[in-house]
Amino acid sequence: MTTRRTLVVGNWKMHGSRARNAELLAAILAAAPGAAELAVCAPFPYLADAAAALSGSALALGAQDCSAHAEGAYTGEVSAAMLAEIGCRYVIVGHSERRAQHGESDGLVAQKAQAALAHGLTPIVCVGETLLQREHGQTGAVVGRQLAAVIGQLGERIGAIVLAYEPVWAIGTGRTASPQQAQEVHALLRAQLQAAMGTAAAQVRILYGGSVKPDNAATLFAQPDIDGGLIGGASLKAADFVAIARAAT
Ligand code: PEP
Repeated sequence: MTTRRTLVVGNWKMHGSRARNAELLAAILAAAPGAAELAVCAPFPYLADAAAALSGSALALGAQDCSAHAEGAYTGEVSAAMLAEIGCRYVIVGHSERRAQHGESDGLVAQKAQAALAHGLTPIVCVGETLLQREHGQTGAVVGRQLAAVIGQLGERIGAIVLAYEPVWAIGTGRTASPQQAQEVHALLRAQLQAAMGTAAAQVRILYGGSVKPDNAATLFAQPDIDGGLIGGASLKAADFVAIARAAT
């Protein structure tokens, strides 16, 4: 039986300030519906503040990246253990902005997912194709290759991740994949998980990300293999984030 609980995660990216974050979190906490699981992924310097603000609430905390290494001479990097200690439950790995702007390979993303799991965090592993790749009919091959690297690294622990399908052409562009386009890719990803781990793949949550807004969230989340969303721009406005969370319940 499928018991996937919808998850809505805000990715604040490099936005915010102590004052703005406090205001945003207070507004979300005041209005967030109880039924969906919610999380916000804040920039590193604000995680401790956010952990304090969220303490005792049902809103979980996440980070936007972690190191593949446990500890050592890696200037500027932040380990999964540090994130867990500060109160994170989730960490995004392999966001397309990191793949594109920081040259993160499929292999590195897979190692980051492993580091996260090793320290009790749930990695939210992002996969997605560019517009050019979609236009060349390569969507399935690209996301399949990205997911295969993580399956290869994690083996049977693959069931502990959250997967996020984020078409690069839909991120921050206002252009959303149609519910059918998104469902098609989610079904492919679920089939790949099933081939790797059998029927337990039905329990893995696959989020959709890419210009999710209050007015398109409900139809996206209604698709059989879409289990919530990874929300960028709209997660910075409490009213929008809460409306999206409501659409998930
Ligand atoms: C994201 O950055 O993960 C994202 C989905 O952004 P947006 O919602 O702004 O497209």
